[in-house]
Amino acid sequence: MLKIEHLGIAVKELSKSIPLFEQLLNSPCYKTEIVASEGVSTAFFQTGEAKIELLEATADTSPISKFIAKKGEGIHHIAFEVENIEAEMKRLQALGFELLNETPKNGADNKLVCFLHPKTTNGVLIELCQEKK
Ligand code: ZN
Repeated sequence: MLKIEHLGIAVKELSKSIPLFEQLLNSPCYKTEIVASEGVSTAFFQTGEAKIELLEATADTSPISKFIAKKGEGIHHIAFEVENIEAEMKRLQALGFELLNETPKNGADNKLVCFLHPKTTNGVLIELCQEKK
């Protein structure tokens, strides 16, 4: 894994959390993007090399709705940048990690992504991401 690419934070309302994080980080939100397939609306901030991704649910069936209902707002996932997502998925699967998707899927911010089930990662939802080339 190359580095922590971003931290994903589940929020109830981007309209409130974007200005909050702009104040906190003293850095503007540089991008918002809806990922319809995931049922999320996202907002990105740059903090040094890593990013913060705020996630708001766009539907009750969104994984973010379920997460907030269960745990409340807060850190939702850690995303690691990888050079070759398919190779990394194979490597981790062979070690017994459970992938939530069998093939890379389209994520926000021009990325191919794959999530690892938290039950095999000490309760932390892990995202692998690779810049689309
Ligand atoms: Zn993410």
